[in-house]
Amino acid sequence: MLNHLENENPDSQQREEQHSSPVIAESRAQVLIVEDNPQMSRMIAAILAPLYRVITACDGQDGLEQTLALHPDLILCDVSMPRMSGEQLVTMLRAQPDFDDVPIVVLSGRTDEQLRIQLLRAGAQDYLIKPFNREELRLRVANLLVMRQVRQVLQREVTVQSRDLVTLASKVTLQQRELTQALSLLREREARVQDQAKELEVRGRQLERANKALTTRNRQLDHMQSRLRAIVDTSQDAMLFLTPDGIPAEVNTRFTDFFGIDASTVLSQPADHLTALLKAQFAAEVSLDEALAWSTTDQERIFGTQQVQMEPTRREFELFSLPVLNLDQTYIGRLYVWRDVTHEREVDRMKSEFVCLASHELRTPLTSIKGYVDLLLTDETVGELSELQREFLGIAQNNARRLMNITNDLLDLSRMESGKMELHRKPLDINLLIHKLIPSFQPGWDARRQKFTLHLPEEAPMVLGDAEGVMQILSNLLSNAHKYTPEEGHIDLSVETVGPVAWMSVTDSGIGLSTEEQAQLFTRFYRAHNAATEAVGGTGLGLVITRSMVEMQGGEMQVSSEPGHGSTFRFTLPLAESLGGS
Ligand code: ADP
Repeated sequence: MLNHLENENPDSQQREEQHSSPVIAESRAQVLIVEDNPQMSRMIAAILAPLYRVITACDGQDGLEQTLALHPDLILCDVSMPRMSGEQLVTMLRAQPDFDDVPIVVLSGRTDEQLRIQLLRAGAQDYLIKPFNREELRLRVANLLVMRQVRQVLQREVTVQSRDLVTLASKVTLQQRELTQALSLLREREARVQDQAKELEVRGRQLERANKALTTRNRQLDHMQSRLRAIVDTSQDAMLFLTPDGIPAEVNTRFTDFFGIDASTVLSQPADHLTALLKAQFAAEVSLDEALAWSTTDQERIFGTQQVQMEPTRREFELFSLPVLNLDQTYIGRLYVWRDVTHEREVDRMKSEFVCLASHELRTPLTSIKGYVDLLLTDETVGELSELQREFLGIAQNNARRLMNITNDLLDLSRMESGKMELHRKPLDINLLIHKLIPSFQPGWDARRQKFTLHLPEEAPMVLGDAEGVMQILSNLLSNAHKYTPEEGHIDLSVETVGPVAWMSVTDSGIGLSTEEQAQLFTRFYRAHNAATEAVGGTGLGLVITRSMVEMQGGEMQVSSEPGHGSTFRFTLPLAESLGGS
């Protein structure tokens, strides 16, 4: 126990410690002794100096200033001091958060019990009653410092832990946010999937409906197909459909009936094999061959040919062929239709023979009537005729002439149709023929003041033809030009050779023909409806006979015309040289 501690100069010693060993001073705790009794202050400093960095303050005020300036680790504080008491100092320090962990040990006298309690209440940690034991001082100071150290360590630990906790909490918050986002994304996806599922369901229903409609449509198509098949099979005509590559694709039962080749055989053959099978049954093998072999690639032409089947039965056919186009107008092949016209031909022939016979029989009495009427009008031996008799006989003569014309036309036509017209084809000088013909027309042209012009090549072409037939052709065309051209009109006849043929053209500046009229020109008894046809007589047979006559002589006929601007009728005859003069 020590009442007085001998320490000559504790301040200087303490300062020396502070300055001589800064490293040690740094690591050691700093203790502030606030004591107005210098002796006591020195004694305490001496006790603690070996262990701590010791600083001293002479009263409460000094203690406060040093505490604020140096921030000691522990304060030993006297109770009663001038300027600022220990209680005031404790109260002020505890009011400052920076110093609330600095332990304060009150140094009090035995009598200051009341004051001591107040100081403890104000925030002091411990007290020592003067005089105190040196060891007790050291222990209490050490204890408090250790406790403070422990508290600080704990505090730091708590701080670190709470920082970790905050980090953890923010991580958790982040993860929670991410989870929430993922969840809402999942919900969105789920909603989307549900939408898609609904859409799929709707589509599925639509598909089901479409499927049903398709099945119905297929059934209808099957039905339609079998109905079409039945219709095609019921047809009286044989039908064969070839693809553009010439492959048989469809055939009807009439085909098998006519030609004895069943559908499976037809459909399994290339077209040329089929043609070979058919050819054997026909009279003109070449035309059938050509019709079948060369037309599949032709996407436009519609044609018809006459064919005669010899085996197994004799039948006369008209073979039609036409291109077949899809709805979108693409070419899908060719249809061949054999129409059995045996019966019609037979009836035609009978009719022609009858007409031929009738007109022949009519011609004899008619010639006689006409001859006698002519005689009555011209023979002086008949005697004087009155004006009225002459007029009546004139009418009879005109009508007899008309009747003769009709009869002659009918006779010609029926002869042609029944194949009884005999032509004697030989080389003809066409220029000469024309020159022979012109004089008979001249009076008519003169009467109507029509201007006739002839265009003949210098070197007369020799054509192959029947002289009478050619004369009849030219006569008919010149006669029409004369009839259907008004007064003072123009009529031209020209001849020119083009390749192996000679073209003869009769052009007039007459009334002309519309396209519709031109299309019917070569129909029997057709006459256009206009004033000119009404005014002049005619049978409507002339052009039919003319064209047949041209074709029978190996030529062709063309017409071009414009209403009000005249017409040109042209025909060809083969050149005799091109056929070797035969
Ligand atoms: P038709 O005996 O009536 O002349 P065709 O067969 O010769 O008989 O002619 C038939 C019809 O064609 C005529 O009625 C006439 O309407 C018309 N036709 C013929 N040739 C001509 C022409 N050169 N100009 C105008 N129309 C013509």
